[in-house]
Amino acid sequence: MNIKELFDHKKTVYSMEVFPPKKADSVDAVYNTLYGLRGLPVDFISVTYGAGGSEVQKHKTAEIASLIKKEYGIEPLSHLTCVGSTKEDIVDTLKELKAIGVQNILALRGDMPAEGTPSMAFAHASDLAAFIKETDPYFNVAGACYPECHVDAKDLDEDIENLKKKVDAGVTHLTTQLFFDNDIFYAFREKVEKAGITVPITAGIMPIVKRTQVERTVAMCGASIPAKFARLISKYSESPEALNQAGLSYAVDQITDLVANDVRGVHLYTMNNVETAKYITQATESLFKSVNKL
Ligand code: FAD
Repeated sequence: MNIKELFDHKKTVYSMEVFPPKKADSVDAVYNTLYGLRGLPVDFISVTYGAGGSEVQKHKTAEIASLIKKEYGIEPLSHLTCVGSTKEDIVDTLKELKAIGVQNILALRGDMPAEGTPSMAFAHASDLAAFIKETDPYFNVAGACYPECHVDAKDLDEDIENLKKKVDAGVTHLTTQLFFDNDIFYAFREKVEKAGITVPITAGIMPIVKRTQVERTVAMCGASIPAKFARLISKYSESPEALNQAGLSYAVDQITDLVANDVRGVHLYTMNNVETAKYITQATESLFKSVNKL
């Protein structure tokens, strides 16, 4: 199924992200995650590609996407980065994805390596998106966006100008980088609309349930921490159980507010944590049912 149809027919789409483990010998973890998630009311599941620079992950993405579709009957969204890839590499991956029935791709540039400049057949995700559409119109292409501005862009206005190029290249929906402050998302959504971008934007939400996650997540994506959230972290940081509960409640509150403010989608960064994904999904299920009149 083309994921675009989900956005055409639903007011608010609910999706999740899983990732292949970094090491080959722990690959079972993601299979256990998917087994644990079975039966949850999720519209599609995305699978990351080589995030964190892992080669093992790259080879597993298509396999896991195929499993999501065949074993669990859920539509997969397969991430694909283009840093360091040749056109031939991408054509081979497209053939592989089509052969296993994966139609939806999240086209990404990927992070530039810390040292050296990789060969760049594709400078930006927009080039990859255009190439996928040109190579085989079978594919539906999605893209990423950054409410707090991508680190390489001069400012948010420039980043949104570039985002428009990605959408003009054929991207049918956008998923945001995670954020903890809904007001930042609403301001971004308004700016994006003013720039003439009309595709649905789905909000990336990551529940923070462990102290170690806080520094790692902020260092990785630069999301700002609103005072309300900082207070929760500092208040409960000595009690893992309390922090887990506070983090879950904060994410549920974020989603409740987003759905009430007509967000087109919520994308849960599960971190392969079944308990967290189950809790959030069950706590918010009635909201999605209500707006989608199910
Ligand atoms: P781009 O859209 O190419 O943007 C990168 C920079 O280039 C921005 O500053 C932008 O303003 C600028 N730019 C974009 N297009 C143009 C243009 N046409 N002309 C001039 N400038 C332009 N990484 C992984 O390795 N694997 C994953 O699976 C993965 N999944 C992700 C999922 C989501 C939802 C998000 C938000 C990020 C994900 N990432 C992943 C991280 C992502 O690869 C990095 O953030 C990367 O640095 C940028 O990728 P992009 O596709 O957003 O790049």
